[in-house]
Amino acid sequence: MPDSDILLRCPHCGAYAWALTLFTDNIFSAARWSDGKPDASMLPEENGITRCYECHTFYWLKDALNFGEIIFPMSEYIFPEPSGKEPYTEDLDIPSLVEAIEQGLGNTVDRKKHLRIRLWWALNDLIRQREQVDAFLHHKDLFSTNLQALDILLRASHEPEDRLMRAEIARETGEFDHCLELLVEIPEKFQRISDQLKVFVQKKSQVVQELY
Ligand SMILES: [Zn+2]
Repeated sequence: MPDSDILLRCPHCGAYAWALTLFTDNIFSAARWSDGKPDASMLPEENGITRCYECHTFYWLKDALNFGEIIFPMSEYIFPEPSGKEPYTEDLDIPSLVEAIEQGLGNTVDRKKHLRIRLWWALNDLIRQREQVDAFLHHKDLFSTNLQALDILLRASHEPEDRLMRAEIARETGEFDHCLELLVEIPEKFQRISDQLKVFVQKKSQVVQELY
């Protein structure tokens, strides 16, 4: 593992797990896809959530013990000494994200948003991996209820990134006029993405698209 990665401990059972330290504050600055998803290597990690491989409880990486503490060199580490071979934390899949939302892991607005955005991205991954379109259609109801809930969370924000995300939600749910309304007054730095969303609207496209 790179020596900048961080060793976490599950807040419930104490099992160790590694976490990548890569993260970005501004989702759309690294967006490769119209829903804001960046390249895999740019995925925000620090604010993420995972499920313990040992006790299967969900936990936020920031709530894990030792977060922010770089353990190298190992000799400085006190009991119980980790082996260094612990697994890396894994992103949650669709059923786990639904379960985490149902269990109330979204205990702040930001965490609620994080879970809903990750669920959106996970569902859109089925379209990104083209052969899974049937699986995507199977989740149609979940897709729309999740986006309705996310839109409500984003509505309270005045951040342009959140407005851009709402525009994309409107497009992906077929509300093309509403999408265009939301794209009015998008600041210059998001013009490139905004212009592309308008083209997708012209084409009456409702699915996630790769940005150029
Ligand atoms: Zn655990």
